[in-house]
Amino acid sequence: MRSIKDADVKGKRIFVRGDLNVPLKEGEVRDNTRIVALLPTIKYLVENGSKVILASHLGRPKGKVVPELSLKPVYEELKKLLPSTNIYFVNDCVGEEVKNKVNELKEGEILLLENLRFHPEEEKNDENFAKELASLADIFVQDAFGTVHRAHASTVGIAKFLPSYAGFLLEKEVKFLSKVTENPEKPFIAIIGGAKISTKIGVIENLLKKVDKLLIGGAMAYTFLKKKGKNIGKSLCEDEYLEVAGKVLDNAEDKLLLPLDHIVTDNIDEPKRIENTPDENIPDDMIGVDIGTKTISEYAETIKEAKTVFWNGPLGVFEKDEFSKGTREIGKIVAELTEKGTVTVVGGGDSVAAVKKENLQDKISHISTGGGASLEFVEGKKLPGLEVLE
Ligand code: AMP
Repeated sequence: MRSIKDADVKGKRIFVRGDLNVPLKEGEVRDNTRIVALLPTIKYLVENGSKVILASHLGRPKGKVVPELSLKPVYEELKKLLPSTNIYFVNDCVGEEVKNKVNELKEGEILLLENLRFHPEEEKNDENFAKELASLADIFVQDAFGTVHRAHASTVGIAKFLPSYAGFLLEKEVKFLSKVTENPEKPFIAIIGGAKISTKIGVIENLLKKVDKLLIGGAMAYTFLKKKGKNIGKSLCEDEYLEVAGKVLDNAEDKLLLPLDHIVTDNIDEPKRIENTPDENIPDDMIGVDIGTKTISEYAETIKEAKTVFWNGPLGVFEKDEFSKGTREIGKIVAELTEKGTVTVVGGGDSVAAVKKENLQDKISHISTGGGASLEFVEGKKLPGLEVLE
């Protein structure tokens, strides 16, 4: 991948594709993590005399102008984060006004464009639209890792018309995720949780080729356990994936670990009864909501010696404190390992939320900013937005 460091950026107009898809509340940025993550690339360009044209999507406006999904609040936040830089905003991402504003940009200044997805051509990877975006700049810098699994005009189309480079955040993502997919230092342990097997089957199959052990938690465990003939009560289960689960179990031999016991309840929203089962079986009238104490001990013992850890997906309904112990305890162990020098990588939306809920974000080697993209990367899929940077 060509790095931004290899580009001659002085005096050049640089189109930076960022991931500024931040949560908003009442017209203000509620969580600026993604904006902050983009700052190293932006600051580097500003300090090296580029004219920065910054573009992103926000939410799903489906090709229409949706005022609530304007990037204007991001513009306000950006000004707060970079108080000594001249930053401008324009109400569109293509057209005459945008061109004029770009022409007025001086070295070290930033122009933030309006939401790319206000135009349906963006998600269709329309060639003319990509060409129009490209016409604004001399160089394309991709720094939105969370979008590289999608072939859109601003992630793939544009690269056909401009010399294209990876920004620092993208480079960091690829560096750490590659530590998981290419020759991970052993023992390599993966922890996969979350609601469904269906969304993670590709990841599980690919990881099984590389890991020493793969620990399963979350609701997806119940589909595997049902296939093994265990009683799963009223727990979430994807019956249409029982066959797939069976094949995975056959191929995995002893690499795949399933929960030995569970936290179960009568009702997730209004629990009256919460129990730890004595074994893998769940009573008929109960729902599995977290891994049990025996499982926590067994998983802790297994992870202890790891030199590489990849974790995606909570091990239970972590949003509710009563059912978050498994996720919390495993999170703590992963954080301790990082301090001992283990490479720990957390990928995907809900696992990131779980890590943040426990305030462990600074104790993980790398937390991926791209949910879908990091899963597809670990699945071993070719990501179109990365291929164009090669
Ligand atoms: P995912 O997006 O696939 O990583 O799934 C995350 C979601 O799985 C979270 O909202 C969790 O509450 C949910 N989840 C994890 N374990 C369970 C469980 N045992 N029963 C129901 N939902 C679960």
